[in-house]
Parts: sequence; structure tokens; C-alpha cells
Amino acid sequence: MSHPDADVLVIGAGPAGASTAIRLARAGWRVAIIERSPYPRQKVCGECLGPASLHRLHELGVADRLLDAAGPEIRRVAWMTRYRTAIADMPPCPTGPYRYGRAIGRDLLDAVLLERARELGVRVIQPAQARRLYGRPGEFVCEYRSRPALGQRPRAADERISVAIVVDAHGSWEREPVGGKRDPNDGSPARPHHSDLLGFKATFSDTRLVSGLLPVLSLPGGYGGMVVSDRGRTTVACCIRRDVLRDWRSRTATDSAGAAVEVFLRSTCHGVAAALDGARLDEEWKSIGPLRPGFHAPKIRGVLSVGNAAAEAHPLIGEGICMALESATLLASLLGERPSHLDESVIGDVQEAHIRAIRVAFARRMRMAHFYSRLAMRQRVATALAALMQLWPPALTLAAQFAGKARGGEMRERFLRLPRGAEARPFPPG
Ligand SMILES: Cc1cc2nc3c(=O)[nH]c(=O)nc-3n(C[C@H](O)[C@H](O)[C@H](O)COP(=O)(O)OP(=O)(O)OC[C@H]3O[C@@H](n4cnc5c(N)ncnc54)[C@H](O)[C@@H]3O)c2cc1C
Repeated sequence: MSHPDADVLVIGAGPAGASTAIRLARAGWRVAIIERSPYPRQKVCGECLGPASLHRLHELGVADRLLDAAGPEIRRVAWMTRYRTAIADMPPCPTGPYRYGRAIGRDLLDAVLLERARELGVRVIQPAQARRLYGRPGEFVCEYRSRPALGQRPRAADERISVAIVVDAHGSWEREPVGGKRDPNDGSPARPHHSDLLGFKATFSDTRLVSGLLPVLSLPGGYGGMVVSDRGRTTVACCIRRDVLRDWRSRTATDSAGAAVEVFLRSTCHGVAAALDGARLDEEWKSIGPLRPGFHAPKIRGVLSVGNAAAEAHPLIGEGICMALESATLLASLLGERPSHLDESVIGDVQEAHIRAIRVAFARRMRMAHFYSRLAMRQRVATALAALMQLWPPALTLAAQFAGKARGGEMRERFLRLPRGAEARPFPPG
């Protein structure tokens, strides 16, 4: 391709996509980013950011803007089962300026990150949906359709953008921009299953939840969390099995899945009922799913994946945004400064190195998230653990530490080792 419209096209402007765009724009790449939704928009997410995420946001130049608005420092953690709640200190991060995590609404976080990308010269195509991708590394063409503004007629035809590199940051709960939603484990189209986990989130005002406390909820057939976020709002997020949700919908005889989820939460966890007593629902329940935790292999050679599109952990430990920001950091380190000449053969090597770096960097977190989510969904075990933690709260502090809540911004060099035979610098220097 003689002169593509941009060097890099990022598909999706969640934390993974926007932070990739920021880092590459700073390194001199000509970047375009395409996002389906108009901002600000809500997103299903618990909205907790640990010290490691705050560190990355600082590197991206948006921490001050966000922390001015964020919820209070999260200094206490709780393990909440049906009748028992154990509370303990959150382990502080021993390195860097951020000792404790904070909660920030996704409407704010994603909008501020994308605005930062725009300030750095990134071309933002929004609201527009990437619909088709063809070509090969160095010569991709993406077809997209702009969403009409309110009151305007939809465009009949797709528009096109030609790029050398494509970064897939579309998340994992929506239709893939390049050909259908698939089960990452076997490559076949995903089919609904009774054990699928569906994600829900709502925000409330005037709750009785103690500021700075993060209760992790153990639920019969699910798990969740609550936290006081920006503007004093309380975010309640949970995952619930499809069959359990179906059961509660028939019990509550409601058409709204969100309303059934709220009844489920209040009925199966007394701590939630107490926290929401007299509270006002600010933002309606939103849903996504099914979740597909695991490493997601890229389907097209040369398309680089970040965030949930690359690796999705059970949200119980609240590390998804951190993994999104870190996978973008790893990719930007591998791509380095923009070279004067793009050598397409190297893109495959970068893809391989990035997949490996992600696996090494996130494997432990993915395993911990899986293990904790299993514990939370087993009511007897979870209740026994709550009793133990009530007797000895440091056990809960330790569990939070194992979940990565005291981790700072360090990232080990070994995550970035290139595949055998590849150049130490992935692109030839300009
Ligand atoms: C219930 C629940 C609670 C959670 N709680 C936490 C928590 O407390 N802390 C935490 O760190 N993580 C949490 N997570 C995980 C976190 O939300 C995700 O890991 C994170 O959003 C991943 O970021 P991403 O940028 O990869 O994808 P996303 O945030 O999903 O962003 C993808 C973007 O791509 C856009 N897009 C998709 N397809 C297209 C297309 N074809 N064209 C254009 N744009 C497109 C979407 O509109 C979206 O904006 C939670 C998740 C769930 C389900």
C-alpha cells in the first residue's frame, strides 16, 4: 500500500483501545480509532481501579483529571455471603504514589481517555461500527458504517479506511468486527448454555454502603461487588448464571432482567439489601454477556489484540481494566517508535511476541480470578470462609493481596522477549 490513510487503526475505544492509541500516537504513529458508541456512555463494569491501573493512567497523562472526580480510596475489603460479612483492611501498595485503588464511572474514564487520544492527534471516528476487515498485514482495509445523529437518516453505504496495522480492542461481549461471535475455546460459533455468566450493572444514590469499602459478593449462582464511585454514586455489578437468572425472572414475573437481578441480589445477600435500603436507582440496569474468560487467539494473522479481545479474566477480582491498560503497554513497547518504513513481515513477529507476553503477564491473574470465582459461587465454602475471615481478618487482606490489589506499576522485562529469530527492535529503525 503506497500511502495508507493511517498507520494504525484501533477498533474499539474502551480502556484497551484508547490507551493503545495514546501510546502509539506519542511514539509518532499516525493513529485512527473507531468506536461504535457515542460518548459518554455507561458500560457494565464494577469500575474499581487498583493502584496498578492508577499508575498506568498517570503514565497516560489522565490520572489527575480522573482522580479529581473519583470515589474515595478503597481502604477496606469485605467478603459478603448471604448472612455473614467479613471485613478487613485492603493491603496498601508498597511502591509508587497510589497506595489504594479508587472507583471511577466508565462514562467518565472512557471519555477522558478518548479525549486524551484526540489531543495527541489521533483521528477519532465515532460513532461508527467496524463491519469488515480485509487485506493483509501492511495493507488492511476496514469498512465501517457511521451511525447517524439523532433525527438524521442512516447512511446507506459503508466508508473505508486503509491502514498498515490493525489493533482489535473491541472487547469480548459484542459481535466481533471481523466475522461473528465465536467461542474462543474451540473456534466454533458460541451457543447459549445454561452455565453462561451474564454481567449486570446499575448505579444508585443515597445508599448506606460505607465509603471506601469494597464488598465482594458471594451469590448462589454468581458473584458481584459494590463500591462508592465518582459523584457519590454506588456502583453495583454482578455476574449471574443464565439458568439462575431465568429462574428469578419467572419467580419475580418481570420482563426486565435488571429488575429480576435486583430482587435476586437483595434476597440472596442481606448485606446488599442493607446497603440498598432507601437507595434510588440512578442508571437503569445494563447487561452484557455471556462472559468468555480465557485467552482469545486472534483470528487473522497480523491483527494485534489488546484488552478483553486478547485475554478476559473473571471480573470478580476487578483486574480487567488493568489488564486492558497493561496489554496496550506491552503492545506499544513491542511496536516502539514509528519507523520511516513499515516492514510488513515484522508484524507477524510482533503479534507472536505480544501473544506470548500477554500469556506470561496475565496467566497467574487469570488463574486466581478463576479460583476465586469458583469459591464465591459455592455458598457453603464461601460461608465457611466468611466465618474464618471474621475470626482472623488478615486472611481476607492476604486474599486481596493474592488477587493483585497491592500491585503497583512495575512490569517485568521478560514479558517483552521477542520470538526466536526476530530482531531485538521489532521494526527496522527509521
Ligand atoms: C460485571 C463486571 C464487572 C467488572 N468489574 C470490573 C472492575 O471492577 N474493575 C476492572 O478493572 N474490570 C472490571 N470488569 C472488566 C472490565 O469491564 C473489562 O475487562 C474492560 O472493559 C475491558 O476493556 P476493553 O477496552 O478490552 O473492552 P471494552 O471496555 O468492552 O471496550 C470495547 C469497545 O469497543 C467498542 N466496539 C465493539 N465492537 C466494535 C466495532 N465493531 N466497531 C467499533 N467499536 C466497537 C465497544 O463499543 C466498546 O466501547 C468487569 C466486567 C464485568 C462484566
